[in-house]
Amino acid sequence: MLHRFYLGFNRFTTQSAQLNNIAATAAHWLTKVSALTSVVITTLALALSSGVQAQAQTQTINLYTTREPGLMKPLLEAFTAHTGIKVATVFLKDGLLERVKAEGVSSPADVLMAVDIGNLLDLSESKLFQAIHSEALNAAIPAPLRSNDGTWFAFSLRDRVLYADKSLKLESFRYEDLASPAYKGKVCIRSGQHPYNNALIASMIAHRGVAQTEQWLRGVKANLARKAAGGDRDVARDILGGICDLGLANAYYAGQMKTAATGTDARKWGDAIQVIRPTFAQTGGTFVNISGAGVAAHAPNKAGAIAFLKYLISPPAQNLYARVNFEYPVRQGVALDPTVESFGLLKADLTPLTEIAKHRKEASLLVDRLGFDR
Ligand code: FE
Repeated sequence: MLHRFYLGFNRFTTQSAQLNNIAATAAHWLTKVSALTSVVITTLALALSSGVQAQAQTQTINLYTTREPGLMKPLLEAFTAHTGIKVATVFLKDGLLERVKAEGVSSPADVLMAVDIGNLLDLSESKLFQAIHSEALNAAIPAPLRSNDGTWFAFSLRDRVLYADKSLKLESFRYEDLASPAYKGKVCIRSGQHPYNNALIASMIAHRGVAQTEQWLRGVKANLARKAAGGDRDVARDILGGICDLGLANAYYAGQMKTAATGTDARKWGDAIQVIRPTFAQTGGTFVNISGAGVAAHAPNKAGAIAFLKYLISPPAQNLYARVNFEYPVRQGVALDPTVESFGLLKADLTPLTEIAKHRKEASLLVDRLGFDR
């Protein structure tokens, strides 16, 4: 697939060179005719050369992403090495949707890339993606991990797991257990409004309804050792600091911390925790969110954007997701990072993310109503 695109790119360059030659030959012959004709020729040559320039520009794609440069850099370099297509990247902490919306039809963005199903659906519902059909993407990405209209595709999975003090004897854990009175004053977690927790709470609503989820969340709040704030890594930091014994966080942060350089804070936090994949009592599955991307609605270089998405699902790119950022590849048969593998088998909850995402608003209102973050 990549090879085919590369050949296409070569053919394209050849055509551009031919256009240049034709323009030069025509200019040489015709300038001998008359001054008037030479004006026409100059105009013709300019038109041809600007056409060539426009074609040369298609060798670059513009990527807008909220992903961190540390992960993207190796992926982008590998893509350029494979295809010859350069990537101009706009890294955004947030405000991706607002920016693309404001740019409208003149947006230079070719690919929009984000984490969390909610962000992808927001982009999709705002019509900022265009539908594409790619057998390669459809074959490699299981149906629940892509939109059914071809607007967005998941490229990695991110499981939300339990970080626990190593002294805790835990064989297994259910998300429901986090509300158990046994853990009073022992739980650390980030804001209930953060997209990572919002999606998890929405998932609980999908399984148990709002009333039972409210009861559960009240229990979790009653167990908090500190205000629900900070980031996922802070759960490990505060377990090491003796503030709490357990909490929820994304698995890839544990991979990062446990493999950080010896002696660094990150490594000390990572070494302080054990990672357990909790499951929902009702489905026996672990909550998994996604990172993904799609072709921008007004992509100037649609072909380049599709080539990029196809690259992201290729085994080398999927391997980078696993090795550089400790995420789960969506492609079957790509090896996990050994540290992530040591967390045990991932049995993902199979409830479609689009179903879960329908409860985002209810989850957010619930967090507000309970004053979970206060
Ligand atoms: Fe993250």
